[in-house]
Amino acid sequence: MHLQGAPPSLIPAGPNHPTARVKKRSMIRATMDRPGSASMTRDIARKNRHTRKGSIPRPFPDKDHERSKGEHPMSLPVVHHPDYHPETPVDERRFPMDKYAHLSRRLQDPSFHGRLDWKTPSPASREQLLRAHDETYVDAILSLSLDARSVRRIGLPLTDSIVRRALASCGGTILTTRLALERGLSVNLAGGSHHAARSQGAGFCLFNDVAVAALDLLASGSAQRILVLDCDVHQGDGTALIFAGDPRVFTVSLHCRTNWPLEKPPSDLDIELEPGSTDEIYLEALGAALQKSLPRARPDLVIFNAGVDPHIEDRLGRLSLSDQGLRDRERLVLETCARNSLPLAAVLGGGYGPDPDVIARRHMIVFETFSGFASARASSDV
Ligand SMILES: [Zn+2]
Repeated sequence: MHLQGAPPSLIPAGPNHPTARVKKRSMIRATMDRPGSASMTRDIARKNRHTRKGSIPRPFPDKDHERSKGEHPMSLPVVHHPDYHPETPVDERRFPMDKYAHLSRRLQDPSFHGRLDWKTPSPASREQLLRAHDETYVDAILSLSLDARSVRRIGLPLTDSIVRRALASCGGTILTTRLALERGLSVNLAGGSHHAARSQGAGFCLFNDVAVAALDLLASGSAQRILVLDCDVHQGDGTALIFAGDPRVFTVSLHCRTNWPLEKPPSDLDIELEPGSTDEIYLEALGAALQKSLPRARPDLVIFNAGVDPHIEDRLGRLSLSDQGLRDRERLVLETCARNSLPLAAVLGGGYGPDPDVIARRHMIVFETFSGFASARASSDV
């Protein structure tokens, strides 16, 4: 299920591309926003019904379509690659790499049988990486020859295993976005490397998987407009820089004002939350951000960074979301996309703390919420 092929002029991207125009950017403070009420989301639905193009792939396809492809009608597509778990040991106190293994193990629980449809991606190719990153940087990573200062900025050892993980993660997000276009919903068990910019990595991010995936979809003509909704507690600086001046991708970042990175290049919409913001403030801000961004972005697809580091017990986050707050966040994003017939692809994003299994349990919330929705949708189709 794809759109017509994109004209060649759409394929190159970047701030200097001649078709690029300067986008209007804005920053709002969460405490000044009005609640994201049900009436607001209905307004978004009405607006989008009037503005969406007829050639957009049909999201949330019915179960007969899925059955015809041999897929379980109630299952949520989840993307996973063995390389997500690198052999190279990392400093778990700084980056809890083990959380990915704990998450995979938890999702094998019998309670998920029939609810998840496991998919394995191909690693991203050099050509795919070059849509989002400079050639010199990509080749320095692939040849393990990046200078020591740049490696320190990333914060992970530059080894074959870590690079393979980054390639698998980018390939995983590419597959996740494609599955979302086909089946409405999907989740990658990695991804959200939003601090990686065109020519440098940072903050545990080598390549920007969301940017690589978005530019791959745009180049293939599978989508023409994309909304990146970044709910990691850190600002999506790399994503903002990569898509600065690219009118096809609308970037939203909902983050803590005082968190790293200190320099925050503007997204199309930045929502800065004060430290200690609770569930209620956060959800009001998110509702307002969705209301504001969807009519402007008019996307064919939403890519959602579902970082769990806004949680009150996160080691690096400074916000105060509860488990229920994260659950309500995932539901608000999911229900808003469903109401607007928008395909939704989620990536894991950040989550930090001393116990990787505790972090994995927070990441479980997006799988529980999305797979529950997929089941309920299939049941209502009977
Ligand atoms: Zn983060």
